Amino acid sequence: MLNYEDARALVFQNIKPLGKYTCPLTESQGLALSDDILAPHSIPSFDNSGVDGYAVQAKDLAEASLINPILLQNLGYIAAGDFANEIMHSGQCMQIATGAPLPEGANSVVMKEDIKIEGSQIRFTRLIQEKENVRYRGEDIPEGDKIIPAGTVIGPAQIATLATFGFSQVPVHRVPKVSIVSTGSELIDIVGKPSEGQIRESNRFMLAGMVRQEYCEILKISMVPDLPEVLTDAFEEALKADVTLICGGMSIGEKDFAKYLLKELGVMEIFWKIKFKPGKPLFFGHRGKTRVFGLPGNPASSYVLFEEFVRPALRKMMGRRVLEESMVKATLETPITKTYNRLHFMRGLLHEENGEFRVRPLKFQGSHSIGSIVASNALIRVEADSPSIPAGSKVSVRPLRNEIN
Ligand code: AMP
Ligand code: MG
Repeated sequence: MLNYEDARALVFQNIKPLGKYTCPLTESQGLALSDDILAPHSIPSFDNSGVDGYAVQAKDLAEASLINPILLQNLGYIAAGDFANEIMHSGQCMQIATGAPLPEGANSVVMKEDIKIEGSQIRFTRLIQEKENVRYRGEDIPEGDKIIPAGTVIGPAQIATLATFGFSQVPVHRVPKVSIVSTGSELIDIVGKPSEGQIRESNRFMLAGMVRQEYCEILKISMVPDLPEVLTDAFEEALKADVTLICGGMSIGEKDFAKYLLKELGVMEIFWKIKFKPGKPLFFGHRGKTRVFGLPGNPASSYVLFEEFVRPALRKMMGRRVLEESMVKATLETPITKTYNRLHFMRGLLHEENGEFRVRPLKFQGSHSIGSIVASNALIRVEADSPSIPAGSKVSVRPLRNEIN
């Protein structure tokens, strides 16, 4: 059976970023840039004032002090969006707004709070360094700088930067279209009232939610009973996507038809079963350009497998550089006494105390446990055949995006 690292390597080997296109900036949040972005010009693009105040020549105020105030002639006011039409000479100053272009001849700006108006003259009582309160052309981002590397996901900071430089359209990767099929004759819809032996289906909505967290597109989600003809039709439809998630029926039960039917439909197996808990029966395969994950139906299994296999796979298809949240080291608060001959990703509670991460595994770790996914915000990595781990040990933890009260 494959171990976790080898299985993940096989997934990454079999996934390539999707094609590129140009997208309006205002619709680009969550997509990954397909090209490096270079600064087409400097920012700031002109020398301007960093404060509301008075543009001066610093040398005019070299002797200024409370007992030796200096008066300069005020030539007028430069508002943001305006510019001065005259050159400022020694003995003169100009009132200026934050962001307004520095008048020619000035080399620093005295804050409004530090002056007194005396008719058409301004009284200065402090000296000022050259360049003080001036934002110089190119000091923030010089022209030609690589401001955002390819593969970066576009968020508010990138949108602001791209807008500043006038990119109304941005080069991005296409996101995968994902189909989800939940299988199981015991499953009923949310609004249904389960009769004996039935349960409400939850995985397709959970998985769709996780797909949406990555800004990928949901092509179709469906729920079908364990009837080979019905499963075949649903799978065929779902295989039109870039990524097909089949949930349930992946193991060796009498009604676990999924793997067999996928093969009948021409899906090539890359691997099936991994030395991992929860979620040993993970299946990964492909048909043409479609990548197929077969996830076990147990909710905690499919949740954890999505985090560790499907999410990074989606991100790689999206052309993202960062495929997952980094693991952190945390101090274990309660011991882990039960270990397995498979790598175990335990659901846990991570929190920060005095600048240090601390984590506590949940008591109930059943792979069917919905309670464990709603109550956890982290996965604790426990190696296969590990001796029991005492409280106080440092463990590797994957933080999860889940709000816990
Ligand atoms: P399976 O992987 O099909 O053997 O299912 C394993 C367990 O997960 C069973 O207890 C199923 O009832 C449950 N299960 C399967 N699919 C779902 C689903 N989509 N939503 C919630 N529970 C499920
Ligand atoms: Mg089933």
